[in-house]
Amino acid sequence: MANIDFYEVLGVDRNATPDEIKSAYRRLVMKYHPDVNKDADSTQRMTEINEAYDVLSDPKKKQKYDMYGTAGLNETPGSGGYGEGFSSNMNDFFRQSGFSNSGSIFDDIFSAFSGGNTRQQYRTKPMGRPGSNIPFTTDVTFKEAIQGKKIKINLDRFVVCESCGGSGAKKGTTPDTCSTCKGGGYVQQQQQSFFGVVNSISECPTCGGTGKVIKDKCPDCNGFGRIRKESTIELDIPPSIPEGTRIRYPGYGNAGINGGAVGDLIVSVRFKQDTRYIKDGSKLIYKCHIPFTKAILGTTVSIPTIEGSEKMKILPGTQSGEEVVLKGKGLPNKRNRRDDMVVRIVVDIPASKSLNKNQRKALEELDQSLSLN
Ligand SMILES: [Zn+2]
Ligand SMILES: [Zn+2]
Repeated sequence: MANIDFYEVLGVDRNATPDEIKSAYRRLVMKYHPDVNKDADSTQRMTEINEAYDVLSDPKKKQKYDMYGTAGLNETPGSGGYGEGFSSNMNDFFRQSGFSNSGSIFDDIFSAFSGGNTRQQYRTKPMGRPGSNIPFTTDVTFKEAIQGKKIKINLDRFVVCESCGGSGAKKGTTPDTCSTCKGGGYVQQQQQSFFGVVNSISECPTCGGTGKVIKDKCPDCNGFGRIRKESTIELDIPPSIPEGTRIRYPGYGNAGINGGAVGDLIVSVRFKQDTRYIKDGSKLIYKCHIPFTKAILGTTVSIPTIEGSEKMKILPGTQSGEEVVLKGKGLPNKRNRRDDMVVRIVVDIPASKSLNKNQRKALEELDQSLSLN
């Protein structure tokens, strides 16, 4: 399936209701139906319209399409399991354009599907079917989120079959041109519909739209051009990662069938808990407990920051609940900066039982002298 914007094909917006989608479809069928419309590319338009409607009218397919674009619709044999576990909360997509530490270059995940000449690609259907993306979740500490991290992960995925180089044809042979569609990948069909007999173009059932058939299958991959293999790969999690980031590693997903494009690995970065802080978005709150005497007299405390610690002066007469902001000492935020850390002073009053006789006496004297003022 090609990378094509189905919403654009149907001329509806992304929030369109099922009824709106349905009526947009009907309108377009009336307009582009080859029986009515004699333009040369009306059949092609109808194919696209049917394809778009097929996806957008099916809640399950629609959801996948909304999440991954057309790549999400290419369910491939044996790839089950990988598509699962992806939450639909995909607000924060990031994409890394390489694997080296070339700074963090992110862009929107859907940029991969919004190329300028998608229609062109549609007409020249490539050999094979693209492999699916692989989702993966990794946990990082706050410090790792700031400084970046190398991770090693075990991936059980489809890789290109080395024996046949991905073609699926036995070594020394090549795939033949499909005789059903003469290599075009599409066949014309007549169907009965609510508009009468409809001539439509659909994917060739013999070759699955690739235009090629394999007579002698590669014995290693059984003609699929890919095999399942477990391997360990090392990835760079770049520095300055906001929580919930998804990073795309192009080409590290499942290999396609019969030489189709390799999918991507999409790593979701999850933050490990850090019980020292209260987290408020990317702002961290640290509760700094000081005895009431120090609050009165002033002191210096050591504040644990993500990277280490920082000395901080507590002025004489500091009240419980006062806050000091440590600028830029919090977590990375989406504006590619670091948020603040807030030190909140908590003045501890000792329980009366915990005081010994002398301490009590000293306090009574203090109380007396304060009352006299
Ligand atoms: Zn093979
Ligand atoms: Zn064919």
